[in-house]
Amino acid sequence: MCGIFGIYRNVDAAANTALGLHALQHRGQEAAGIVSFNGERFFAHRDMGLVGEIFGDEEIIRALPGYAAIGHNRYSTSGETVARNTQPLFAHMDFGGFAVAHNGNLTNSMTLRKELVREGRIFQSTSDTEVIIHLIAKSRESTFKDRLIWALKKVIGAYCLVMLIDDKMIAVRDPYGVRPLSLGKLGEAYIVASESVAFDIIGAEFVRDIEPGEMLFIGNDGLESSFPFEKVNKRLDIFEYIYFSRPDSIVDGRSVYEARINIGRKLAEESHVDADVVVSVPDSGNPSAMGYAREANLPFEMGIIRNHYIGRTFIEPTDKIRHLGVKLKHNASRKCLEGKRVVLVDDSIVRGTTSRKIVEMVRAAGAKEIHFRVSSPPKTWPCFYGIDTPDRSKLIAANHTVEEVEKLIGVDSLKYISLDGLYQAMGEKGRNNDAPQFEDSVFTGDYPIPLVDVNGGNHSRDNISLIRETT
Ligand code: 5GP
Ligand code: MG
Repeated sequence: MCGIFGIYRNVDAAANTALGLHALQHRGQEAAGIVSFNGERFFAHRDMGLVGEIFGDEEIIRALPGYAAIGHNRYSTSGETVARNTQPLFAHMDFGGFAVAHNGNLTNSMTLRKELVREGRIFQSTSDTEVIIHLIAKSRESTFKDRLIWALKKVIGAYCLVMLIDDKMIAVRDPYGVRPLSLGKLGEAYIVASESVAFDIIGAEFVRDIEPGEMLFIGNDGLESSFPFEKVNKRLDIFEYIYFSRPDSIVDGRSVYEARINIGRKLAEESHVDADVVVSVPDSGNPSAMGYAREANLPFEMGIIRNHYIGRTFIEPTDKIRHLGVKLKHNASRKCLEGKRVVLVDDSIVRGTTSRKIVEMVRAAGAKEIHFRVSSPPKTWPCFYGIDTPDRSKLIAANHTVEEVEKLIGVDSLKYISLDGLYQAMGEKGRNNDAPQFEDSVFTGDYPIPLVDVNGGNHSRDNISLIRETT
């Protein structure tokens, strides 16, 4: 996962980009960077850490002059956790400077990279995004636009890109629209961002979502939109609504908050249990727990309090830190829990580490019964399109039945929302198996975009477990 932001024709381009990245911080906390352009030169600053730490200093913003800037929040899903993978990437091309920031994951980058290296191209990072730069560099098409299209027709995968060249900012969303991308406006300036919350923070107006397969060229003469790729059915990752996007964002015309409330309501309808209180695992479980409480007519209590001064524990790279992180992050409140039959709601169970600790904590705080409710179906497949879901051996639901998970995390009952229930909460009749409305591979193993780097794309449900850790 990552967050991307770009602004064109604005006097405070870099400062606004830093603010936009700050609003998108939840999409990646490992590193961040900004590249600006002042009509003559490109300027770059990238570092590991949080946006506020990296760009909090006025000097640093002043060293990024210009009317255009693009930025990136990194959360490594492909490539190592090293500074040289920090985006935006920048290259000197025959046509001038080129900067690019990418959210998503290419599924044929290893294959392309091998070919490119064999041709004598030298890679500076392990990031899949660098493949795009090399493809543009080698393209024999005449205009930049045609070179970009040529390059993007070779890559397969999920991507939202924002790019900067001498006289244009360019935004592209992959044909399936797996990751979100929206267009905003601030006075004369056009803005592109992963989520609409990045417009709110700088007082910009939301214009519209960028469409799957759409390519936007933004320049001094305005906006030019085109659809250079073959049309396919849109497949936004449903996990953006369940977990990843901020609840105050509007993604593809739907309020993430409302979606989560409805998912919680549906979950309550499907998994009724006699209880006294509904408690959320904050913050990710909050809206769905509220929805659950409304539907079940039970009080919603803040039985677990989250310490806000640490990041998303999941993002810490090692299992050891992750274990520690869970304890650092949450505390149960005896006042709300003692003697109660508790419905505990979280958005997802991945490894099961969080849930086990939380359950232990809630028991220790005196809960009489714990009924765990999950606002997504069991996660049984790895994600190849840009969310950091680990290989199958680490996914608790891929290796255990619901009854076993119930025992492993130590609850009185465990229920997940059904797949059709999830789709119904999203306003659909159910999952249309002939033409699924969302990308939901982590729940179904249905990968709409070929996994070329996985056995040349000839993956089957049996060999998928072996390959996740190769990127
Ligand atoms: P577990 O301990 O089961 O591995 O983690 C479950 C928690 O991780 C849930 O509370 C959920 O909010 C969060 N989570 C689920 N998927 C992701 C992900 O892809 N990235 C991050 N950072 N957190 C996740
Ligand atoms: Mg969580």
